[in-house]
Amino acid sequence: MTPAVPVLPSSLRDAAIAARGFMPTDEGDALWDAAVEAATAVPGLPMLEVGSYCGKSTVWLGAAAPATDTILFALDHHRGSEENQAGWEHHDADLVDPEIGRMDTLPTFRRTIFDAGLEGTVVALVGDSPTLGRHWTTPLGFLFIDGGHGHDPAHRDYELWTPHVAPGGTLAIHDVFPNPDDGGRPPYEIYLRALDDGFTERRAVGSLRVLTAPA
Ligand code: SAH
Ligand code: MG
Repeated sequence: MTPAVPVLPSSLRDAAIAARGFMPTDEGDALWDAAVEAATAVPGLPMLEVGSYCGKSTVWLGAAAPATDTILFALDHHRGSEENQAGWEHHDADLVDPEIGRMDTLPTFRRTIFDAGLEGTVVALVGDSPTLGRHWTTPLGFLFIDGGHGHDPAHRDYELWTPHVAPGGTLAIHDVFPNPDDGGRPPYEIYLRALDDGFTERRAVGSLRVLTAPA
């Protein structure tokens, strides 16, 4: 008998769709599919997301964690990327801590994960990605890169985190725009680096690219 393929519960999908953030529904559904595939290819290894914001993509990925008997580390300093700051396109004024005048998406993130019932399987890592990445040693079954989209942050995330993806594991990259008119270059550049480093493309939905790590 073949084991049953997990199905994304509609309550969790609804929670992901309702959450604040930057993850189109078809791409979120593809993230769930990719996470389930990763758990089959390299069972038991944790997943890690770089860039959670208010927890939207986190719900899609986190929903796959209990279904596949693993956990999701959700990494973000919760101070926002450049494009989330005041004066930029993706700024939400109500996500600023008025006492310190800095973005703080952690309370909203926590609430999103609580409401989705995922506190048991989503573990927040609150801090700067390269600071933590330099000390990380645990192999990953699934890595999702959606943090800082500038040249240095994107390439640093690629260099620090990708080596932790287990052979046959999954790397997903968001905001990959082959056409420069559609968006910034760095996520596309690190996607090309991954192909160059032997990752193979498995799925492309919108600006999401899902790749398999070399065996
Ligand atoms: N995946 C989210 C969107 C992420 S937006 C969604 O589905 O909506 C990018 C996030 O990366 C922001 O929340 C920002 O705080 C975080 N980020 C940017 N640079 C970072 C760094 N150096 N360390 C940790 N988080 C960072
Ligand atoms: Mg994104």
